[in-house]
Amino acid sequence: MDSIKEFFSISIFGISKYFIVAGSYYVVCYILYKKTLKNARIQNKEIVGKDIKREIRHSVLASVIMSVIIFIILESDWVKYTQWYQNIQDYPVWWLPLSILSGIFIHDTYFYWLHRLLHHRRIFRYAHLVHHQSHNPSPFASYSFHFLEAIGEGLIVPVLLFIIPFHPISLYCFIVAGFLINAYGHLGYEIAPKWFRNSFLFQVLNSSVYHNLHHSKFRGNYGLYFRFWDKIMKTENPSYEEEYDKIQSKRFDNQKTQ
Ligand SMILES: [Zn+2]
Ligand SMILES: [Zn+2]
Repeated sequence: MDSIKEFFSISIFGISKYFIVAGSYYVVCYILYKKTLKNARIQNKEIVGKDIKREIRHSVLASVIMSVIIFIILESDWVKYTQWYQNIQDYPVWWLPLSILSGIFIHDTYFYWLHRLLHHRRIFRYAHLVHHQSHNPSPFASYSFHFLEAIGEGLIVPVLLFIIPFHPISLYCFIVAGFLINAYGHLGYEIAPKWFRNSFLFQVLNSSVYHNLHHSKFRGNYGLYFRFWDKIMKTENPSYEEEYDKIQSKRFDNQKTQ
């Protein structure tokens, strides 16, 4: 009985996180500030209800699959082989934020290579085409995965739990932080501040334009949080900075003349 309750609470957390984050981004950008943000829109094409429905359907299923994976690893004997700890005093307090940050770095590497695999010509059609049905993604596309891809994406949690010590607080913060960044990548709007373009962070971090280009061109920009792997593997879209600059000048040059 306790296991059923545990499974439901993990699933409810996964599904509500999806709707709260993606829904808030959607309400802010596509409804409340649609006019104000018109110059921040990455593609001109309107997003239609049919696409959003498909994205939500796949995302809810993917959220449940990812919850099943978390449930299995935490509730089975496998947990003994992980570094999961529930007594917060087992590690220093500073390890909590550091474990979240380490999780983000490991996840970026995991995601990049999984994503490259998903783009393999023999696999793409079966496991990744669903995600690429969103040529012009909305935040609801963030988890719009085929169930095989959802399993691959969800396995990051066991991988992390085997590699580094994770407390429940760190795990849930990691999942929420990762999803906030993921949904920003699928936002359809570039909302990064003006200073971001000329800062060191621009060379390191992904942006909404970055992942949007992956959806519109189907190739390049495979990374999730950072540009490292795409730079190392020379898979970055060569027109990324040019495309970013177009949006940047649309957003901020217009502002000056208004
Ligand atoms: Zn892809
Ligand atoms: Zn995507």
